[in-house]
Amino acid sequence: MKPVIALVGRPNVGKSTLFNRLTRSRDAIVADFAGLTRDRHYGNGKQGKHEYIVIDTGGFEPTAESGIYKEMAKQTRQAVAEADVVIFVVDARGGLSAQDHDIGNYLRRLGKPCVLAANKAEGMHDGQQLVEFFELGLGEVHAVSAAHGQGVRTLVELALAPL
Ligand code: GDP
Ligand code: MG
Repeated sequence: MKPVIALVGRPNVGKSTLFNRLTRSRDAIVADFAGLTRDRHYGNGKQGKHEYIVIDTGGFEPTAESGIYKEMAKQTRQAVAEADVVIFVVDARGGLSAQDHDIGNYLRRLGKPCVLAANKAEGMHDGQQLVEFFELGLGEVHAVSAAHGQGVRTLVELALAPL
């Protein structure tokens, strides 16, 4: 069985872009507006010697009571349940948000293996900008650029190594 990686994070942080990078396909929809990928979306991928299945998800809104956000949250919980490891994507440029805290708390409570990826970090030389993400209590913050590919291979290795 190939390991399963779920990509989780609030809308617009670059999950679908990372999905495309991890699967080397244009299957996942990438859009400039939030929350377009409302369904789970599966792909096969390979990085170096690692083969895996990756699940893209819509944005995560754990407190949403109704409508599309509730459905997105449900889809995300199912994806996390199916996964061996979660890549929690945050926005290195946008910074930490209340939604990131909600998602982080949810993931910490679950205790599922989780790797924290600060995306959109291309051209950022100041590690200081990522320090705030340690507040999430999920350990190391890994700078990546899904759009440019930087740090992605290392991220996959970190996610899959302990499995
Ligand atoms: P999702 O809602 O989390 O799936 O995010 P998307 O993958 O749809 O990306 C949202 C926006 O962020 C799009 O405009 C992407 O082009 C942009 N984006 C994604 N990855 C990167 C990155 O590594 N760097 C930069 N600068 N922008 C990115
Ligand atoms: Mg998306």
